[in-house]
Amino acid sequence: MCPICKECGENINHLREICSGWQETNVFFNKKKGCIDGKYTEFKGDDSVLEYNCPNPNCEKTLFTNPAEAEEFLREKDELQEIVAEKLKQIEEGKDES
Ligand SMILES: [Zn+2]
Repeated sequence: MCPICKECGENINHLREICSGWQETNVFFNKKKGCIDGKYTEFKGDDSVLEYNCPNPNCEKTLFTNPAEAEEFLREKDELQEIVAEKLKQIEEGKDES
């Protein structure tokens, strides 16, 4: 059981976070390769775009635009799964008694 995307109805077990920014790479000339080479990269977010999208390749719609909503979505689904699991357990135990 996974959370369900409200756009495509598919089961999704995670969200895809998209954030804007830039990547920094220290470039140097690699004599062995005879070309420019990258030494170290670091991503730096600029906070202008932050989206939580459906990971389904046929959907990829933006479901949330802030981390709190995304977290709530994932956590609520987990709690719902626990409630359902608890109910199923009660039903099974009820059957055992009869
Ligand atoms: Zn979707």
